[in-house]
Amino acid sequence: MIPVRDDLRALKGYHSPQVEVDVRLNTNESPFSPPEGFRDALASEMSCVDWNRYPDRSASALRSDIASLHGCDAEQVFVANGSNEVLQTVLLAYAGPGRTVVTFEPTYQLHAQIARVTGAAVVEGERGEDFTLNPAEVDRVLERAQPHVVFLTSPNNPTGLVEPRERVEQLLASASGLVVVDEAYAQFADWSALDMVEESVPLVVTRTFSKTWSMAGARLGYLVGPAWLVAELDKVVLPYHLDVAKQLAGRVALRYADDMNERVALLVSERERMSNALGVLPVDVFESGANFILFRPNVTDGKSVWRGLVDRSVLIRDCSSWPRLNNCLRVTVGTPDENDRFLIALAETLLHSGPAGSTDTVKV
Ligand SMILES: *Cc1c(COP(=O)(O)O)cnc(C)c1O
Repeated sequence: MIPVRDDLRALKGYHSPQVEVDVRLNTNESPFSPPEGFRDALASEMSCVDWNRYPDRSASALRSDIASLHGCDAEQVFVANGSNEVLQTVLLAYAGPGRTVVTFEPTYQLHAQIARVTGAAVVEGERGEDFTLNPAEVDRVLERAQPHVVFLTSPNNPTGLVEPRERVEQLLASASGLVVVDEAYAQFADWSALDMVEESVPLVVTRTFSKTWSMAGARLGYLVGPAWLVAELDKVVLPYHLDVAKQLAGRVALRYADDMNERVALLVSERERMSNALGVLPVDVFESGANFILFRPNVTDGKSVWRGLVDRSVLIRDCSSWPRLNNCLRVTVGTPDENDRFLIALAETLLHSGPAGSTDTVKV
């Protein structure tokens, strides 16, 4: 074996364990396949592709479709292979060796992970017990770290918490560097920082097709930010990184924005139903503005509850051993049916009120 870069030796990879089960509520995807008509429309577009040619390097048609969706300029849109690649490109351009990145923990693990892979130092700010972010803590960390890049995830993953607009304003006022607001779940929340993007403001807002657009398989994400910043990202990213099929899939998906909004509305109402149902079980439930809910069993430990659910063929995310998330579990909002199966399995597991698979002893 030859040694890897010194600074990478201590890094662990990012894992999201998969188990064969009937009900998969662990990775926050949409539970629905793409809208009626999407497959045929995409297949017909695909039949005209010049496969011998490189794709449009700047993905200009896709950028301009995304720009019309948000009412911004196409030059303010950067598109990549999932918002993870968007984040990586931002960090390659604005973090890297000798630079500092700030996160407020607990939050999306990949912000710190990708920052470290680029060689940047990561300074972790701390959220409170209820996972809210104290303005004094924000100022303390910014003062100390003088970061080149600051991350804020709203709604936050895995907590579900929606950050108030004032927190973004505070970051913009106090941070010396770039502010990245990760809005992977913003469609499920009641506000977005998109309207704060301006040429004179060092702010980017990242979005993804993975969570709301039923397109996690396509790997497509983007950011909206100042055109001068997008131009720097275009220099950093690999040429032709967006294949022709993905560019088409994104454009076709955007024709179905109305269907997407209906699905979001259904998932939001299911989220509220699930929160209420969880509220009568012996768990602490954290308020969520996303398509998932974080909760903490308070009679037994998270890990054994997670196992009890797997035994009943329901898979959720086990955060119980993650730093600061002691005993917490995260469930993705699925179809009404899947959510019922989860709630029944959870009630059984918590109340030990019947053998695995029996549903007749518990009402949800
Ligand atoms: C899922 C997720 C992403 C990654 O999205 P992709 O577009 O699938 O890469 C980014 N940020 C947060 C907070 C997420 O939860």
